Amino acid sequence: MQPIQAQIESVRQQITACANAAKRDPASIKLLAVSKTQPAERLQAAYEAGQRAFGENYLQEALDKINALSNLDIEWHFIGPVQSNKTRDISENFDWVHTLDRLKIAQRLNDQRPAGTPPLNVCIQVNIDQEASKSGCLPDELEALALNVADKPNLQLRGLMAIPSPNQQGNCAFSRMRALLEQLQKHPKLSAMDTLSMGMSGDMAQAIAQGATIVRIGTAIFGARD
Ligand SMILES: *Cc1c(COP(=O)(O)O)cnc(C)c1O
Repeated sequence: MQPIQAQIESVRQQITACANAAKRDPASIKLLAVSKTQPAERLQAAYEAGQRAFGENYLQEALDKINALSNLDIEWHFIGPVQSNKTRDISENFDWVHTLDRLKIAQRLNDQRPAGTPPLNVCIQVNIDQEASKSGCLPDELEALALNVADKPNLQLRGLMAIPSPNQQGNCAFSRMRALLEQLQKHPKLSAMDTLSMGMSGDMAQAIAQGATIVRIGTAIFGARD
């Protein structure tokens, strides 16, 4: 495995190439470095290579790193399942949550956002392949949840997130995600939604071709997790 700096450079080049191929502006795609299971020193190395946005799945592990790296100007994204007993720590310590999938969690994140901090950026996770085992809002329930979240003063509804089923060709799920976002954006209350969080190390190219604005990349930056 190359040093982190070289890996980040390589992923950035791939993003640019994919964006060019899709006739999109590379600057419209944010690279989220997914740093679950990585020690704080590895995040610091990525930071020194210019990386600012980091995604974490496990709350306690994330809080330890947020503490250890509090002197750095990092944008923290929560991308793991949100249990209701975790919402306070998430709302107090993160800038983004990608995995909002029900009203109760939205209400708690909103109520627990500390006064004086900007609204928490949220994406609604969509169970795009309607898998029984997967969290996420079902496509049929999406509009009602989005309208409700859009009314919460301490949340900023940014967009949609999905982890397509590995059994299916991602392309199709990604294009359905894009269609769902475009559908929601027609609603006057939802017209500011601007984010599609989709694409991981293995399917970044297809996701960017279908309009991803945040790609969540772990392995291609940090190497395989054990
Ligand atoms: C682990 C994880 C990723 C990163 O996956 P890689 O295949 O390592 O790039 C992205 N999104 C979520 C939600 C994850 O849990």
